[in-house]
Amino acid sequence: MHCGKNCAVFHVGKISPNDGVHSYWTHFIISISLALPVCDITRWVIVMKIIVSACLLGIHCRYSGDGCYNEAVAALAAAHELIPVCPEQLGGLPTPREPNEIVGGEVMTKNGNKFTRSFEKGAREVLKIAKLLGCTHAVLKSRSPSCGSGKIYDGTFSGTLIDGDGVTAKLLKENGILVFSEESLQNL
Ligand code: SF4
Repeated sequence: MHCGKNCAVFHVGKISPNDGVHSYWTHFIISISLALPVCDITRWVIVMKIIVSACLLGIHCRYSGDGCYNEAVAALAAAHELIPVCPEQLGGLPTPREPNEIVGGEVMTKNGNKFTRSFEKGAREVLKIAKLLGCTHAVLKSRSPSCGSGKIYDGTFSGTLIDGDGVTAKLLKENGILVFSEESLQNL
């Protein structure tokens, strides 16, 4: 039966006087839903602010000067607010730039030029943005010395992976932000 209050709530069986609480909240939510366009309902109900590696959204910020657009990551924008960041650019590094890997706690190029401080500065800037906007989740590019989460290259520039986090992923995790990659979106 229809609820009789000009909304789309249907009750199975008889409405008892004790339905008050259920009916109030159900009517409140459904009435707001009917008053808003579908996109606004979605934003009102499930929106999260998510820090995202800018390269995954197609921004040309990678060391090679290109991006690595990921359709599944970009699709998150339908339900959430995405905040694109590139910690290496925020740390003051140019684009394009030499690739870096983490070697014994230092971030350096194949020739041994150290950029640890730039990577740490970029990580702090990303954390600052996350805190300013109240972000609790991040989706970061896998295997990067900044953004990698769980697995990073081993510092030999040979494509070998080891357990570990990039500088930014590590700092975000230490500050309670849940970090995912484009390869673990199913856990988000
Ligand atoms: S630092 Fe992160 S966001 Fe920037 S290019 Fe590398 S993986 Fe992408």
